[in-house]
Amino acid sequence: MTQDIRILIASKGNPQALAEGFRTELPGAAVFTDPAEAGAGPVPYVVAGKPDPGVIAAVPGVELILSLNAGIEHLLAPGAVPEGVEIARLVDPAMTEGMADWCLAVVLAWHRNLHLYRADTEWTRRSEVLSRDRVVTVLGAGALGGRVARLLAQIGFETRVWSRSGRAVEGAQSFAGPEGLVRATTGADAVVNLLPLTPETENLLDAALFGRMARGGFVASAGRGQHLVEADLLAALDSGQIGAAALDVFRAEPLPPGDPLWAHPGILVTPHVAAPTQAGSAVRIMAENIRRHRRGDPIPERVDRARGY
Ligand code: NDP
Repeated sequence: MTQDIRILIASKGNPQALAEGFRTELPGAAVFTDPAEAGAGPVPYVVAGKPDPGVIAAVPGVELILSLNAGIEHLLAPGAVPEGVEIARLVDPAMTEGMADWCLAVVLAWHRNLHLYRADTEWTRRSEVLSRDRVVTVLGAGALGGRVARLLAQIGFETRVWSRSGRAVEGAQSFAGPEGLVRATTGADAVVNLLPLTPETENLLDAALFGRMARGGFVASAGRGQHLVEADLLAALDSGQIGAAALDVFRAEPLPPGDPLWAHPGILVTPHVAAPTQAGSAVRIMAENIRRHRRGDPIPERVDRARGY
């Protein structure tokens, strides 16, 4: 019973391949890559990347937005998605796996001083610390942060995890709320940011947080660029309070040539590749959410607009 399903793909990144995927998953569904093709009839489902302003609001009869991204702050911008229209985030085990790879890669590289050895041209034996003697704090205990914290704890790091609700993560110590953030980051050797961007989390990675960490610590951020006060990070690196950083997300993407973050020797820049959307699995997950919606079943990853994620 998928014949009368109508879907618009509002994505600039290879919409034709996504459309083919939906045609395979939902045989008979009408899948459009251009709003003009859909005519005046209702299109209840919109698969959204980061469409231009006004695109979604102009779709007649839209009921459910299926985000191609885990972060949906752009879909909550005023006027982007009409009130009453549901938004489903993308939560995909393949994406979680990619994020875990990136976080473990940068944390372990820092932990074992690989960034320093790479620059060495003579035999320099640095003091090497065991993982059990490092405190690593993960900000966010959701689909991504929860998995990363669990893996860090399994490796042996003393792991702390901070969330809004204080969600439990196996092997890690959980913290909640503003006071919990202070406790979670005080004395931390490394902080890994996997928060969603909301008014509460914007500019959270700032001088105060860096100042609470152990001297010479490590900051990794793969949440959103707006979480980081870049000038504070550069100052903390220059003072030695922070020893190194790995950044995957930026206020302006692509990060402009000449930006000071490129040039700083203590910063590893990766071009928003920590956990790219995997089209094949993403389409299967979104198609299942369309089936759920048609049956009237709840969508597990439904965005709570009041919470902002
Ligand atoms: P989830 O919604 O599953 O998890 C979000 C976590 O953040 C939850 O634990 C939540 O707390 C916590 N949180 C939210 N607001 C606050 C707050 N004000 N104070 C404390 N904790 C808070 O999101 P995901 O794990 O799926 O994704 C997280 C983010 O990662 C995305 O929003 C996106 O920005 C980024 N991302 C980056 C990618 C990349 O390639 N760089 C790829 C994919 C995602 P609680 O558990 O209590 O709800």
